[in-house]
Amino acid sequence: MAHGTFQVPFPVNEPVLSYAPGSPEREELQDMYNHMYNQEPIDVPMYIGGEHVRTSDKRPMTPPQEHRKVLGHFNYGDASHVEAAIKAALSARKQWAAFSFVERATIFLKAADLIAGKYRAKINAATMLSQGKNCFQAEVDASCELIDFLRFNAYFAQEIQQVQPESADGIWNRTEYRALEGFTFAVTPFNFTAIAANLPACMALMGNVVVWKPAETQMYSAQVLMEIFIEAGLPDGVINLITVDGPVAGDVVFKHKDFSGLHFTGSTAVFRHLWKTIGENLETYKSYPRIVGETGGKDFVVAHSSANTKAVTTGLIRGAFEYQGQKCSAASRAYISDNIWPEIKEQLLGELKTLKMGSPADFSNFINAVIDRRSFDKIQGYIEYAKGQDDCEIISGGACDDSVGYFIEPTVIVTSNPHFRTMVEEIFGPVLTIYVFPSNDFDATLKLVDSTSEYALTGAVFAQDRYALSAAKDALEHAAGNFYLNDKPTGAVVGQQPFGGARGSGTNDKAGSALNLLRWVSPRTVKETLVPVEDYRYPFHS
Ligand code: NAD
Repeated sequence: MAHGTFQVPFPVNEPVLSYAPGSPEREELQDMYNHMYNQEPIDVPMYIGGEHVRTSDKRPMTPPQEHRKVLGHFNYGDASHVEAAIKAALSARKQWAAFSFVERATIFLKAADLIAGKYRAKINAATMLSQGKNCFQAEVDASCELIDFLRFNAYFAQEIQQVQPESADGIWNRTEYRALEGFTFAVTPFNFTAIAANLPACMALMGNVVVWKPAETQMYSAQVLMEIFIEAGLPDGVINLITVDGPVAGDVVFKHKDFSGLHFTGSTAVFRHLWKTIGENLETYKSYPRIVGETGGKDFVVAHSSANTKAVTTGLIRGAFEYQGQKCSAASRAYISDNIWPEIKEQLLGELKTLKMGSPADFSNFINAVIDRRSFDKIQGYIEYAKGQDDCEIISGGACDDSVGYFIEPTVIVTSNPHFRTMVEEIFGPVLTIYVFPSNDFDATLKLVDSTSEYALTGAVFAQDRYALSAAKDALEHAAGNFYLNDKPTGAVVGQQPFGGARGSGTNDKAGSALNLLRWVSPRTVKETLVPVEDYRYPFHS
């Protein structure tokens, strides 16, 4: 029972620690990384209700930078585990959905504080070890972005609840923001620990119960997340983590009458498949399920003839190659005006030579390995394809080495064909393709940028000419959900640049904003008449 109207603490973005040599955070993280690397292999269970479920099907967890090293195993389940997770979620639903918002929010705010404090090194080290991020990429994802998601979501959820209707004399109108009826399903990608946590957590914050299926390559950090949620006080059955084959999980979940919502982040092809399956089962469900999906990208950088060349070069290197280009927002196609191309080319080639590649255990490495064999083969396939074509040239990188880890050099392709395959398709690796356009063809180039790919996630335009920036903003209105002027297209910050794209890139429900949280509630309007009328006749009857 709440004896008051409370205010969620005002959220402020979590400061990013530097990990500079000699800093205490660097020493703590190195110690944690070494401990987790050297300890006995761990055994990651499924979390179903209050049970830690183990099976005889143990799957190895290996660092992408050293694929022969086994960090531990996770327990692979089958359809019966999906059914058990749904059952556990539905049993927890009544109490959780009725629980006061303050109690629910406190759990996730506590989780944020645990990550900011005693779990920071552990969640960062887990992300470095199992997802191949360097210390900075792990810090901005697994610590800062996740802490921000948890704190800002609580604040935005409160703001949603404060939106109430007008009331005429003698009436009190109220809107209740109910959890969805049934259970929800979170399906998360490998590339962001913060997204993996946020998708189930934000639905749970709004009173929903969740079956959560993470990507197999993110299992190590997924377990740390469950540890944190449980320590923060999350009751049994509210978030149930299962490790089963995606289609097996989908087969059970999407045929269940109480399925009420899908929160997905991953590739466009998988999302389309899931949406179709839900559509085919529509008559099965008690309610129309909510479907939110943030999916692929083919994110662009456009450099106008007036652009600051150093800013463009920096934007390309950070935008295309941080985390090996495995961000949905990573720059992967660039359009550079021919008058500034020679200067940018020289800067780019010079700087790329300075990027060190190797394990995240060595903090001086900028580039680490790509996530797994499947990704390595796919990215290598694109590079081999480019090597065999006449209308492009690989001007930097191109070497791939999977002898120890899945290492691919940052690769730059220059093409004379703006519709070249690597200008169009999502590669999801450290490959940037550049098309050099005539400086007097800026408007036509903007049309090209808008129409070349099916995606519309992020994009950046560099120019010092204000007219050019304004023209680009208008011409590319629907080409990106996150549009950057004179900045790289990656690195959206919760509360500052709500994130998501449209077209083939998703439903654009902007993770980490009130728009997203609204999808996980079903409002009920309550009209209460204080003194009801007792005569059916209106005045005009007399
Ligand atoms: P993926 O689509 O391969 O996998 C995503 C999740 O879906 C995983 O948990 C996977 O096991 C599951 N899955 C796969 N097939 C399934 C099926 N048939 N039924 C049910 N679940 C299934 O994506 P990934 O490789 O983990 O992540 C990379 C992709 O995610 C890229 O396309 C990237 O652009 C996208 N992404 C988008 C955003 C965004 O905000 N737009 C953010 C991060 C990643």
